[in-house]
Amino acid sequence: MENTTKDKCRNCGEKISVYKNQSAKVDHSKEDAKWNQYGGWVCSRSCDYNACVTMESSFPGAGVTKTPGQSSMRKIKENWGE
Ligand SMILES: [Zn+2]
Repeated sequence: MENTTKDKCRNCGEKISVYKNQSAKVDHSKEDAKWNQYGGWVCSRSCDYNACVTMESSFPGAGVTKTPGQSSMRKIKENWGE
């Protein structure tokens, strides 16, 4: 029986397998995938970072954002370490 769900990195589209216990691994690298601040899996710290920047840049009145906001940074550090 299939015990994983196929998903993909919200930033780069890398294939990710999601397990029933809500952990996830990147198919290609076998590294752990992490849950992004704004929802969706990400395959690496840089994808996590870029997904936050892309999302926050789309907020009304945000202008051009180059670094994630404080709560996003907190989540990124929680996901990948300092
Ligand atoms: Zn990615």
